[in-house]
Amino acid sequence: MTTLTFDSINPATGEIVDSHPKQTPDAVHEAVGRAEEAAAWWAALGPAERRRRLLDYKAVLAQHLKELATLVHQETGKPVGDATLELVLTLTHLDWAARNAQKVLGRRRVATGMIGLNLAATLEYLPLGVVAVIGPWNYPVFTPMGSIAYALAAGNAIVFKPSELTPGVGVRLAELFRESVPEHPVFQTVTGLGETGAALAADPRVKKVAFTGSTATAKRVMAACAENLTPIVAECGGKDAFIVDADADLGAAADACLWGAMANAGQTCVGVERVYVVDAVYESFIRELSERVTKVKAGEHYGPITMPGQVDVIKRHIDDATKSGRVIAGGPESVRAPYVDPVIVEDVPEDSPAVREETFGPTITVRRTRDAQEALSLANASAYGLGGTIFSRNARRAAELARLMRSGMTAINSVISFAGVPALPFGGVGDSGFGRIHGADGLREFARPKAIARQRFAMPGMNLTSFNRGPAELERLVRLVTFLHGRRKR
Ligand code: NDP
Repeated sequence: MTTLTFDSINPATGEIVDSHPKQTPDAVHEAVGRAEEAAAWWAALGPAERRRRLLDYKAVLAQHLKELATLVHQETGKPVGDATLELVLTLTHLDWAARNAQKVLGRRRVATGMIGLNLAATLEYLPLGVVAVIGPWNYPVFTPMGSIAYALAAGNAIVFKPSELTPGVGVRLAELFRESVPEHPVFQTVTGLGETGAALAADPRVKKVAFTGSTATAKRVMAACAENLTPIVAECGGKDAFIVDADADLGAAADACLWGAMANAGQTCVGVERVYVVDAVYESFIRELSERVTKVKAGEHYGPITMPGQVDVIKRHIDDATKSGRVIAGGPESVRAPYVDPVIVEDVPEDSPAVREETFGPTITVRRTRDAQEALSLANASAYGLGGTIFSRNARRAAELARLMRSGMTAINSVISFAGVPALPFGGVGDSGFGRIHGADGLREFARPKAIARQRFAMPGMNLTSFNRGPAELERLVRLVTFLHGRRKR
């Protein structure tokens, strides 16, 4: 019989971490069938019991924190410390989703307005059913759990297809969930390659797909979903800009810039990839950055490139950038697969691949700008629009720039800080995708609004939705509407 398994490999050592089944479309079909039944049970369990179970799951994950961090370390190559941080952030999101689901989604009365005076109206957000989560490898716990935790809290069942590079973590997350919810398979993981994910996205019983990965694959997933009108939330990475204004704390900015760009070997969807520094502080900032970068080493401060094929993309961007720009740190020799040392290049043309395409590696381009306004224009001239950073001591000015940045999230005087605030929605615009995970928006993303209007009494002389309606009723309506809405504002 042909082998129906695949191996997950430690990218740092090349050793096999474990083998996992390549689940066939039939196996995926069966998992979705089980999930449909589990979804009905989970939804009927009610918000208070779901909250209790999810908080228990949080405790189970916390008790297995070291084991999970080690597994993440083995499958991605990232340092155990970084894997631990990823897990800690995941726990805070799970906690927030569990504690806030009822408040955000529960039934509430809404105002009915003058014309609906005789009505009582309620709004609530009901579960969708089965949610498919297709996850990436760069943050194999934090990123998929940003969908899974919120979708579970909203009352849905999950079928999770982890990246083929990090299947073990995905399997373990679902296994541990069964300690808190043993009755039904409310959270299942299916392992395999791209075809397994494709079968999952194409299943008509899946009511929403939460996808994280490349823009190209998101389009394929969306095309498959179109067949069944299955909605998707797509988180597709970015080309985030880091703006340093004239009054910024340059030491803090250089420190944050370096970490935001190089941590996790740059394999962060909201990682820093483009840096724009205003002319007045350009030389000083470059000095701060150059001093610090000499102390950062691949293999010591961050791990290897997790996906072997990504090394070629990073190499192509470095070659391109160093040909046209001026090297501040590193260069083509920084690529010693699977590791890549930090690379910083200045004055790379804005239309070059290193500035336009997602690199997903420990490299940045730096450009001098006339002022913050020009920096913002260049930052916004990207097909992507996920996150971004502003460094400035002027809080009002920084907030203004942040609001004008064409992205879903912006950090001020820190990097990536928004991802650690569970109440803030996370997602992008343009090629970075659409829809939101995290926060109240993230809970509503995995629920359908249910609107109910109940007539409390018949409105005397105003029975508008009847064939018995006469001209006098219509006349009264027109008088009322003119009174309510007919006053001009000029
Ligand atoms: P992909 O977009 O190809 O994969 C993301 C997920 O989708 C994986 O679980 C993958 O499974 C799955 N998948 C692949 N093909 C299909 C399909 N036809 N239908 C359904 N699911 C599918 O990303 P890669 O891992 O190949 O990385 C490529 C690039 O994407 C990176 O270089 C980076 O630029 C970007 N990326 C962005 C991320 C982010 O955080 N936004 C995360 C990861 C990557 P499998 O792994 O088995 O192929």
